[in-house]
Amino acid sequence: MTKLYYDQDMDMGFLKGKTIGVIGYGNQGRAQALNLRDSGLEVIIGVRADETKRQAREDDFEVFSIREAARKAQVILMLIPDEVMPEVFKEQVLPGLVRGKAVCFASGYNVAFKLIEPPEGVDVIMVAPRMIGAGVRQCYVEGKGFPSFIGVHQDAAGNALETTLAIAKGIGSAKSGVMLLTFAQEAELDLFTEQAFGPAFGQVLLSAIQTLIDTGYPVEAAMVELILSGEFAYSMQKIVEMGFFQQMELHSHTSQYGSMTRSMRFMNPQIAQTMKDVLEEIRSGAFAREWESEQKAGLPVFNQIKEARNLHPIAEWERKTREAFRML
Ligand code: NDP
Repeated sequence: MTKLYYDQDMDMGFLKGKTIGVIGYGNQGRAQALNLRDSGLEVIIGVRADETKRQAREDDFEVFSIREAARKAQVILMLIPDEVMPEVFKEQVLPGLVRGKAVCFASGYNVAFKLIEPPEGVDVIMVAPRMIGAGVRQCYVEGKGFPSFIGVHQDAAGNALETTLAIAKGIGSAKSGVMLLTFAQEAELDLFTEQAFGPAFGQVLLSAIQTLIDTGYPVEAAMVELILSGEFAYSMQKIVEMGFFQQMELHSHTSQYGSMTRSMRFMNPQIAQTMKDVLEEIRSGAFAREWESEQKAGLPVFNQIKEARNLHPIAEWERKTREAFRML
């Protein structure tokens, strides 16, 4: 049964008198640290010595090494990139993560795929915003909520859920509500969006652009028509606000009739099958193992694909279009 929690279920009292150590001061780190402090909680930052350290100091936080912040804090928020987290966790966080403390992740990935195995006696919890860092801060400042997935992987003293809810409220997620999932569910959903929905959509977009260009339409016209005018992005925003079908009412009758009658032709069972195959690779842990060995090997495939990607003419099409329509 899906469990959701709202503002009235969350009490920041669980964090009062405790020091929250935010490890990493990037996208999520900065946004969550500022929100937690503005919610009246005590926050310190743990970072390496460079650019983000300067930013954290400028924002008036007490800044420590990662090891020292983990030692001082009772609640540790792991907000560094997932791929560097296992090593940083093992070498710099683990020594300070003693019995009775809590460690909170913004993604279920490392715990779900056993790349991080926290010790017994600590709470292992998750507050994973469905929002980029800049949005986490902006929503908070504007007094709006944003959804998060939360989770409790290990409940050492019987109140790990309360701590999780208090963090969710402190970062400003309470107004929208938060949903309880397992770490594995959160990680799998996230990876599915990145590996199935995103690429499928990207391929559809590239096919549409190529079809128009091959038929002889000017590149700039195809690019503006399909994507660069922002009309499509506007429609996506209306789907969020009004609903998938309801937003169609904003379009002409010709548009609605043409779209609905032709949409059947694109119902391709192969797409759903490919999505299922990709999801299975994620759920079995095959993707996590593949990505781990790719990193250990020095990212050969990653770098090769990035290089090949740069050969695609879309960047040039975008440049020409922006120049033609004075969008620069
Ligand atoms: P960022 O890439 O923004 O993290 C940057 C921070 O991590 C900086 O402080 C950086 O320090 C530090 N860092 C990078 N590499 C290392 C290292 N090897 N050792 C120590 N510190 C390091 O991360 P995100 O905010 O994007 O992601 C953090 C977590 O939030 C992840 O678990 C992610 O899955 C999750 N998440 C992210 C979302 C997003 O919008 N990006 C959305 C929801 C969840 P330095 O300046 O020294 O490099």
